[in-house]
Amino acid sequence: MNLNERQQEAVKCIEWPLLIIAWAGSGKTATLTARVENMIKNHGISPQNILCVTFTNKAAREMKERIAKNLWIDSTQIRSFKDYRLPFMGTFHSFWVSVLKEYIEILDYKKDFIIYDTADSVSLIKQILREMKFEEKEFPPRKIQTYISTAKNSLLTPSQYEQYVDSSFKEVVRDVYHKYQKKLQENNALDFDDILIKTHNILQKPEILATYQERYTYIMVDEYQDTNITQYEIIKMLASKYRNLAVVWDDWQSIYSWRWADMRNILNFKKDYPEALVIKLEQNYRSTKHIINAANEVIKNNKNALSKTLWTENCEGECITLIEAPDDRNEAKKIAEIIVEQGRPYSKNLVLYRTNGQSRQIEEYLIGAWIPYKVVGGLKFYDRMEIKDLLAYLKILYNSQDSISMKRIINVPVRKIGARSLEVLDEYKNNYDLSYLQILENIEDVEDLKWAAKISLANFYTLYRELRKKLNSLPSLREFAEYMIQKIWYKDYLKWEYSEAEYDAKIENIDELINVLSAYEWIETIPALGQFIDEVSLLTDMDQLSEENDFVTLMTIHTSKWLERENVFIAGVEDGILPHIRTIGNQEELEEERRLMYVAMTRAKEKLYISRAKERFQFGEYMRNPKSRFIDEIPLVHTQEIWFTSEVSFFWDLNFWWNLSSSPSSETFQKVIKTPKIDNDIASFSIWDRLSHPKFWIWIITDLNGELAEIAFNNWGLKKMNIRIAPVKKV
Ligand code: ATP
Ligand code: MG
Repeated sequence: MNLNERQQEAVKCIEWPLLIIAWAGSGKTATLTARVENMIKNHGISPQNILCVTFTNKAAREMKERIAKNLWIDSTQIRSFKDYRLPFMGTFHSFWVSVLKEYIEILDYKKDFIIYDTADSVSLIKQILREMKFEEKEFPPRKIQTYISTAKNSLLTPSQYEQYVDSSFKEVVRDVYHKYQKKLQENNALDFDDILIKTHNILQKPEILATYQERYTYIMVDEYQDTNITQYEIIKMLASKYRNLAVVWDDWQSIYSWRWADMRNILNFKKDYPEALVIKLEQNYRSTKHIINAANEVIKNNKNALSKTLWTENCEGECITLIEAPDDRNEAKKIAEIIVEQGRPYSKNLVLYRTNGQSRQIEEYLIGAWIPYKVVGGLKFYDRMEIKDLLAYLKILYNSQDSISMKRIINVPVRKIGARSLEVLDEYKNNYDLSYLQILENIEDVEDLKWAAKISLANFYTLYRELRKKLNSLPSLREFAEYMIQKIWYKDYLKWEYSEAEYDAKIENIDELINVLSAYEWIETIPALGQFIDEVSLLTDMDQLSEENDFVTLMTIHTSKWLERENVFIAGVEDGILPHIRTIGNQEELEEERRLMYVAMTRAKEKLYISRAKERFQFGEYMRNPKSRFIDEIPLVHTQEIWFTSEVSFFWDLNFWWNLSSSPSSETFQKVIKTPKIDNDIASFSIWDRLSHPKFWIWIITDLNGELAEIAFNNWGLKKMNIRIAPVKKV
């Protein structure tokens, strides 16, 4: 690769502080790599004096391999960070751990400390709450963990936290925090936050700091825009003696403020190193002109951005395709169709969305079109915890013998049914060959159970019976599910158990599940439940498709930062989704959303599709979201539009009305209220007719008996439905 002039300038600047301001795909990582090579190869700088910090382990590995190759080192021999022929290259995290491994003893820890992940931290907090006789219900452990983590990231010790205590909840947090730190120490354990904080503490010792200053005389940090204030401080201390710090800054790609990344660090850098050489890398090597110019125009609307102009010598390319679909189903279907039509290897396609819940609809249509896919950095929809819980409820209500589902939910939400009680139930089950429900029915006869456990189990049985009764009486599966979620206090349970952000994501998924269930509106509740459970099993069966190597990648925009693909789809680009509804009205947060849009757009090398739906099922209701403001920021010269009407017949008569009174503008959030009102003419259908259906595309009638038809769809099996009221159309 021939580096361009600016890149070369950065590579040559090795004895001076350096600020590389750059764009996505402009060769930042490539430049840093070349700079390290230049230091070692041409200037005889010892690799041991170089510290290079990257944002992901993957990036570090790639850089290391490239450098090893150019320095004629067999990369298969590179072991961890210790290889003396190569510099220290790794994430902040791995660097902190290396410091701790050397010096943690001064903090009364032993060198063989262990690291607790978040789940471990939460269990420790649970244990402390029990000891302090606090109810988990009142003081949810996960929430306390978040509070403690925030305190730690603001460098507050338990005693310093005192000054922020302004509620009884925070008083408990403070007390738990004290005990938590003590217990971590007793267990010779560190949590994730400690790794950073303890390193900070250790480097306060002048003699240790001096050792590191002498060791790492050349320091480099990639993706500097995503560093937080403590990371900034540590780097500043390390570099303060030789003042040889090079950072790469791409403020337009800063999307981690929720992880405490602090954009002000760039101002700090300029203050700390007024003499720094500033180099702008403005040539993009990744994307076509249309994509680059469009992304440029979007990001320009952010006030808090350093001025940069990006250009590329790459070809003009195709215009960005804007897709406006009548609803979210059609949006997903269109994406699947385009992937098929294009006929490119699946692996050239990347589908991005703002929130996890959006993947479900897209997954379903990819499966329908037999397109293998993988959801990266997240679980497939039906593998998500909250969806699995609710499915387990539905399954056990449908089939009372389903012991796996029963075990999953008997104590979810928490009902004080412990492991011991379950063991007793299992013994009974095996000895007498009974189902759990049969045992629950006669729970008072079960010996070996404590009185309290019996009451809990009896209550659960009552709940089960009530749900069963409602299943018979409520008119639709959707209504039943909504009732059930409320009846079992599921949302409250999530609220207590999880932090706000996790809770929101889970609620989005639950709303999406309700959306799925509303596709069964025309079938009676119990048969609908049966059909739904069958279909879900089919969907999960088809997971094996993803075992192939050639697959479409699905992920949230946040996860996509390090990636590039020929074709990129950004789905659901609507005000309320991207930008996220929570951020509208807050300038700073809105700008971060715009950066997300920018990151998403710049993943595309050749072709970018941006789609939105005029209506979508969201927050448990049909919504009309306005077109995202970010779409309007793209000049028309870069776009072409696909605008189409409903291809899949709707299960609702389009006899809907919507509430215009909320705002004078039609481009605003609107609820759409729809009423099922289908009355197909039975006489017009006959056997072997082909039908279209909003969810399953094409069906064939294989048997017809009055209103009741048996219908086949490829090898998805046969289904029975009442075609008078089903949302089907002859094709
Ligand atoms: P990101 O914003 O995704 O982190 P980046 O700015 O770090 O991207 P790189 O990953 O280093 O960019 O480079 C992007 C692509 O451009 C790579 O495929 C790289 O090989 C190519 N590239 C970088 N510089 C040049 C150059 N001077 N000539 C040709 N190709 C280049
Ligand atoms: Mg990079």
